[in-house]
Formats: sequence, structure tokens, C-alpha cells
Amino acid sequence: MQFHLNGFRTGDPGVSEQPAHGDGAPGFGALPEEVDVLIVGCGPAGLTLAAQLAGFPEIRTRIIDQKAGPLQLGQADGIACRTLEMFHAFGFAERVLKESYWVNETSFWKPDEARPENIIRHGRIQDVEDGLSEFPHVILNQARVHDFFLDVMRNSPSRLEPTYSRRLLDLQIEPDCADGGASSHPVAVRLECLDPSHEGQVETVKARYVIGCDGARSNVRKAIGRDLRGDSANQAWGVMDVLAVTDFPDIRLKALVQSAGEGSILIIPREGGYLIRIYVELDKLNDNERVASRELGVEHLIAAAQRILHPYKLEVRDVAWWSVYEIGQRLCDTFDDVPEGSEGQRHPRVFIAGDACHTHSPKAGQGMNVSMQDSFNLGWKLAAVLQGRCAPELLHSYSSERQAIARELIDFDREWAKMLSAPLKSSADGEGVDPKEVQAYFVRHGRYTAGTATRYTPSRLTGEPTHQHLAKGLPIGTRFHSAPVIRLADAKPVHLGHVVQADGRWRLLAFADRANPAEPSSRLRALCDFLADSRLSPVRRHTRPGDDVDSVIDVRAVLQQGHRGLALEAMPSLLLPRKGRLGLVDYEKMFCPDLNGGDVFDMRGIDRERGCIVIVRPDQYVAHVLPLDDHTALAAFFEGFMEGQAVSV
Ligand code: FAD
Repeated sequence: MQFHLNGFRTGDPGVSEQPAHGDGAPGFGALPEEVDVLIVGCGPAGLTLAAQLAGFPEIRTRIIDQKAGPLQLGQADGIACRTLEMFHAFGFAERVLKESYWVNETSFWKPDEARPENIIRHGRIQDVEDGLSEFPHVILNQARVHDFFLDVMRNSPSRLEPTYSRRLLDLQIEPDCADGGASSHPVAVRLECLDPSHEGQVETVKARYVIGCDGARSNVRKAIGRDLRGDSANQAWGVMDVLAVTDFPDIRLKALVQSAGEGSILIIPREGGYLIRIYVELDKLNDNERVASRELGVEHLIAAAQRILHPYKLEVRDVAWWSVYEIGQRLCDTFDDVPEGSEGQRHPRVFIAGDACHTHSPKAGQGMNVSMQDSFNLGWKLAAVLQGRCAPELLHSYSSERQAIARELIDFDREWAKMLSAPLKSSADGEGVDPKEVQAYFVRHGRYTAGTATRYTPSRLTGEPTHQHLAKGLPIGTRFHSAPVIRLADAKPVHLGHVVQADGRWRLLAFADRANPAEPSSRLRALCDFLADSRLSPVRRHTRPGDDVDSVIDVRAVLQQGHRGLALEAMPSLLLPRKGRLGLVDYEKMFCPDLNGGDVFDMRGIDRERGCIVIVRPDQYVAHVLPLDDHTALAAFFEGFMEGQAVSV
């Protein structure tokens, strides 16, 4: 963590300095008449977006929710490895790691062939394959995840707080303004006040952009005429968070229990050492049937769990939360308000994210994770357009990238849900699913559930794999797979991927060729000279005069030599940049392999002779891999979507 750049400050360095023009939003009270971004819904999708945009105090962001205050209990709890990588970028991964349950192993139970009324364990596996991520798969109450995002917002330069007790009624979009840019506030939103002192009043807020993160029954989705399409019948689910006493031995492991005739349950141990979540799959509902009509109570869920666990006993001592809810596997065709085929004529003004545009069963544990990844994808794009760094065309890429990912998730979820609901095979040649097949499917799709299987296809933001052989272990379009390194200046072991913060900046990671970067023959040195001095340099082209040299594109180098074998003072000056009000030197731009703990060049398949450039997007995805000396292709990549800003920095 770096701080004191603009002068010494006492106190918690996690609390950002507030600029003179910052305008934090109080929890209640009237909203401004005009905002840049209005986020509807304080679920995981909305809060991820708000936390990201709160880092840009010049962008007037507001987030509203119909609830009277933050979520306290219940809903989702699974946090994938990929999500923890993202939490690190927001600065609270360590807090989650400390509080959460770690899913290190999963066990599988099936009916005992000798006595089918009893269950027996038939498998126990490692939950996440080795080396997939530096973070584990964990379980933590969704409400705590919300708390951490609220802290990020509160401590940001914007000091952003949600406005609660506001329900979006509807919205109207004016035709796009003449310049096609973000210079007007074309979306008029009507909000109903629900707090006692303003009850019944309706406020109108005009926004440049509105993002519907308002869940599966989204009003924003309805207002832009989008439909969730898919299964017409919903699956009903029972879920309970309980404190219980049991002789079931795997109660502190994630356990999938399939019984012979009573259905199946999923046991998820929870944070704190005592709490357990149990999912009970209930019947499929008929078309248009609501689960409430079945009048199921928590006692039904407890009784079902007790029957499935036979011969083990389950005695529930306290129920912290329970719910019976219904969900179908559904998806919108596009995630914004631009009619299909009109992408060339107009830019999106209204977006939908999370459950508002895709819903799936909780079996794959993806609802909260994918919702947050949606808005992490959108946040930096909105900021770049509102800051004038990128043209609004960039915003089309949100729907095209995320809709494809949601479609894959729904296909996976459908398959997995079908497998778990199917009757179990009672003999080798009988009908139904073999429990071994269920376990094998789980292992095969581990990367999917870990959230690391996402791969964006080539576009202006994601290059073609022409030079992929230079960094075989960092596939273009996938999230940057971190590896351990040693920071050159202070010999600190760190993770290379952790240089990517949720601050909207691009990272250019230059993996050096074999030559010492102090020598004129070094290709890394030539790249740094190009970036620092050439009029074609993307760093110079896209950074505004007066801004820090790394404020748009943050250049970092990974060298091949051990950290004691290099002379810091002889390194290219671009890698020791002077920054901030006092012109201080940033010493955290260069890294060396950890020669005792795994060499990043070997771990990620980097070509040692030629080195390479790896461009990482603000949402941690690998955008491109290029040769170290292909300066022209590097400049062209950024020209493809960024506006020119300046030629002198
Ligand atoms: P949500 O978390 O649904 O957030 C939407 C927010 O928008 C809410 O705060 C809502 O109050 C607000 N809102 C809605 N309409 C308006 C409006 N018109 N105006 C203003 N605000 C509005 N997933 C699991 O994996 N496991 C579970 O056990 C599980 N249980 C769940 C139980 C319930 C009751 C619900 C609703 C969801 C559950 N989910 C569960 C799903 C999981 O919580 C979601 O996938 C995840 O929260 C999606 O995040 P989101 O931000 O898209 O939407």
C-alpha cells in the first residue's frame, strides 16, 4: 500500500484524502437533480459499481435502494477465488480471508448399496486445484461483503453513502444528444420516497447513465423493454442458516448429500466455526406458481434435512435465517438499452447488471460472484467515458462481453442442476446418474466455479493471440493469473497481480529479455525509452499534462535477474518515476523472480530470450501480449479505443 505521496498525513491511510470539490451523499435527504451515474440497487452488483466509481470524485455518482438500510442477513455466501482477486483490488481481501470459512475440501455422500435408507461417503476431494489462484474459495455472509464495499465507498475521495428508502418507479430516455457523447443527462428517473418523513413523495433525477442492479424483478429492465428468457417454471429452494448439533462427521466440510428417495442437500459450513447453511432442493413449481402458495416453513426444511441425513441425527438449536425462494435459469438478450442492430447509431445510456439480467440456481454458487464481475467490467468503462479518456463506443462492449459470459454460466448451471436433481443409479446398468459422475463433473468444472474460466473473445479491448507464445501461461482474454515476485527496491515478496487496483488504470507489464536493463542492448530499456520519449508513446499520448505519468497506463517491469544482482540506480528512469505534488520517486515499479519460491518466467511460460509486454485491463483481464520491441503495435492497441490527451507529460 502506498501513501504520503502528496505530503505526510496522520491517521488511517485507508481513508482517502477528500478533494475540495468532493460531494459525499448523505444516506437520506433529497438527491441532486442531476447526477452522472445513478445506480439502482445496493446488492453485490450495485455496490461493486458504486465502490469503483466512488474513486472518481469528479464523477457525481449516486446509489439508491428501496430498502431502509444495509442488508443484515441471508442471501448468497459463496465467494469464488476470482472474486477474492477482485476484492484484493478493492483493498479488502484480507478482511474476507480473516472472517470467512475456507472451502478446502468437498465430500460426496450417496445411498449405501447394502442399506439404501442410509447414506455413506463415497468421495472427498480438494475443492480448488493447486495453483489456480493465490486465493482460496471461501464462504461469507453476503451482508458482510456489502459492509466491506460500503467501507470502500465511505473511505473513498467521494465519501459516497447509499440513499436508502427510494424505489425506482420508471425511467424515460431522451433521444441521444447531438454530439453522441456524455454531455447531457438524457435519462429521467422517477423515484418514490419510502422513508417516513418523505413517504409518498416522488423525486425526479436526471442522469447521464443509469445502471439497473435491482435484482431479478428489475424495474430498470422492464423500463428498457428487456425480458429474462429461459425456463418458464421456477425451481423452489429452501435454504437455512442454523446452529445445530449432529453426529454427521463432515459437518465442517462442504458436503453434497444425495439420498435414495428423499432428495439431496448441500451443506455449507459457515464463518465463525458453528454456523451451517443447508440448501434443500424443493419441487419444481408449475408455470406462474409462486413458492409462497406452498406455505412451507422452516420446519419442512429441517425435517427434509433430517430424512436425507439418515442414519445421522441433526438437532437444530437455533435458526439464524431461512428462506424459501424460487429461481429459474433465465437470461436477457442484451444488457443495455440499445436495440439490436442499432449499435452503430447510438450509445447505451441504461445498463442492467447481476440478477437483473441473468438468474441461475444457487447450486453453482455463482449469483453474487457473477453479478459483481458484471459491474466490475462496466465501472472502469463508465469512468473512462465520463472522464473523456475513451469515446462512448466503448460502452457497447459491456453487453457483448458480459452477456456471452452469463450465457455460458447458465448452460453450465442447467447441466449441473439437472445432474443433482436426477435420480441416482441404483445399479451399474440402471437408469439415472452415477454419483461418481456427479463428483467427476464437479472436478472437471472446478475452474468454472472458481470464476477463472471466463475468457473474453478478441475485440478492440482484447487482442488477437498472434504473440501468445511469448506468454503461454497468460492467455489473452482471461484474468491475469498472478505469481509471486520480489520487489526490487525493498526486497519484499509480493504478488505481481496485486499491482492491479480497482482504480480504472491500465497496467503494462513488461517482462524483460535476458539482457541487464542497465545495458543499451536491453529491449526492455528500449521500450522504456520509447514510452518516455516518443511522440507515439501511448503513455504520452493518453496522459493529460500535469497528471502523474502512471495515471492512465501504469508501466511495471519484471526483470530476469535476482534482486541482489541489479543496480537500482542504473534502471530506466521511466521505472523510477517522479510523482505527486512533491515530485517523489515511486520505487514500486520493478520486480524480480523469487528464485527460491518459483520463477514467474517459468510459472507463466514467458519467453526468456525475447521477453514480452502483457497489457492488463483495469478489471484484471489480459488484454494483449506483444513483443517487447513492437512499439507500433503497442501504440495502435491503445489508439483503438482511447482518445488522445497530450503529447507531453
Ligand atoms: P440483489 O442482491 O437482488 O440486489 C438488488 C437490490 O436492488 C436489492 O437490494 C433491492 O432492494 C434493490 N431493488 C430492487 N428493486 C428496486 C427498485 N425498484 N428500486 C430501488 N431498489 C430496488 N444466492 C445464492 O447463491 N445462495 C442463496 O442462498 C441465495 N439466497 C437468496 C435469497 C433471496 C431472498 C434472494 C433475493 C436472493 C438469493 N440469492 C442467493 C441470490 C443472490 O443473492 C443474488 O444472485 C445476488 O445477490 C445478485 O446480486 P444483485 O446485486 O444482482 O441483486
